Amino acid sequence: MAFINENYQKLQAGYLFPEIARRVNTYAEKNKDKKIIRMGIGDVTRPLAPAVVAAFHEGVDEMSKEATFKGYGPEQGYAFLRDAIAKNEFQDRGINISADEIFVSDGSKCDTGNILEIFGMNNKIAVQDPVYPVYVDTSVMGGRTGNAIGNGHYENLVYMPCTKENGFVPQIPNEKVDIIFLCYPNNPSGATVSKAELQKWVDYALKNKSIILFDAAYEAFIKEDGIPHSIFEIEGARKCAIEFRSFSKVAGFTGTRCAYIIIPNELKAYTQSGDAIDVKPLWSRRHSTKFNGVSYPVQKAAAAMYTPEGKKQVTEVIDFYMENAKIMKESLQSLGFEVFGGVNAPYVWLRTKNGMKSWELFDLLLEKVQVVGTPGSGFGPAGEGYFRFSAFASRESVLEAMKRLKDAGI
Ligand SMILES: *Cc1c(COP(=O)(O)O)cnc(C)c1O
Repeated sequence: MAFINENYQKLQAGYLFPEIARRVNTYAEKNKDKKIIRMGIGDVTRPLAPAVVAAFHEGVDEMSKEATFKGYGPEQGYAFLRDAIAKNEFQDRGINISADEIFVSDGSKCDTGNILEIFGMNNKIAVQDPVYPVYVDTSVMGGRTGNAIGNGHYENLVYMPCTKENGFVPQIPNEKVDIIFLCYPNNPSGATVSKAELQKWVDYALKNKSIILFDAAYEAFIKEDGIPHSIFEIEGARKCAIEFRSFSKVAGFTGTRCAYIIIPNELKAYTQSGDAIDVKPLWSRRHSTKFNGVSYPVQKAAAAMYTPEGKKQVTEVIDFYMENAKIMKESLQSLGFEVFGGVNAPYVWLRTKNGMKSWELFDLLLEKVQVVGTPGSGFGPAGEGYFRFSAFASRESVLEAMKRLKDAGI
């Protein structure tokens, strides 16, 4: 008899996006004449930058000739890409990270989901609420949680509420936690964390020998000075943090796939008997056993983001999205909404009016103005009463959506 991993049965139905699709499709069926504007899912819409595309083509051409053909590449990623990342993302900003601490992968979703594999089963894991669902669901799959409890939480995970009252930066939990997922700039709230606040987390982790798993997928959208782009800007972080970065949002790689993880050489975790063990070799072992590298043309394309033209083109696209965010933020504010995010992240996070529930606002917007966003409660109970709009849309859609809201007096 073959047995299943029963942890999968603890998973609650992948509720949010399928439910959004269901409601939108039901509405669309009944209202074929209505044009629906979708600003819900966090997927980019602009094409790859020309410099990236040119390098992508070159990579394919190299694969077509015997002299330049490449088979399996280095599992950790080609040195040309890791060197470019180390220099441009870290060293040029004065951050001490070297190419040998970088592991290239096919996505931060996979990395944030896989990383727990190298850590023991008795770690107490803390997540933000609302949260990117991957950290939670992969903890469940790995048997690191108990069952789902009524409010959308799982037993044995520590949830850290992020609300307007705490500026969407959680308090340090009262109970001791060993592994802490933090995402800044944050999806879904669009919030950032200051250096001083992040320092508190690093100090906590150092004191408790905990590890912070820092998801910086939206780092490139930071516009204001003084906000940390990397947790490794914080003193002591090399001893207590792993960072996740992705080309998905910064360079439109959601369909092309390339990301990386940074594990500093100093990072240690412990055996049950208290021996300190280097973490990087564990991940290296895992990565090289279960992964055979990102395709060569894709790595070449990713590295082209760091050429002078690549940088300029990628920045233009980010600026375009952030202008969308600004338009949305200002329009929604003028309609009387309390609005967060949208300044250093491509998400605008609004508070519903008059205590309306997130899904009630979703239905209202769909039915009255045919604008689709994402209900905050779908990211966790602390997201109830909030609503997310994504700036990854065409300018036309953004302007039209905001006009519809205004005309309808929403
Ligand atoms: C989009 C996103 C990522 C990137 O995932 P990829 O698998 O690299 O496309 C990572 N973390 C968060 C919070 C995201 O929203």
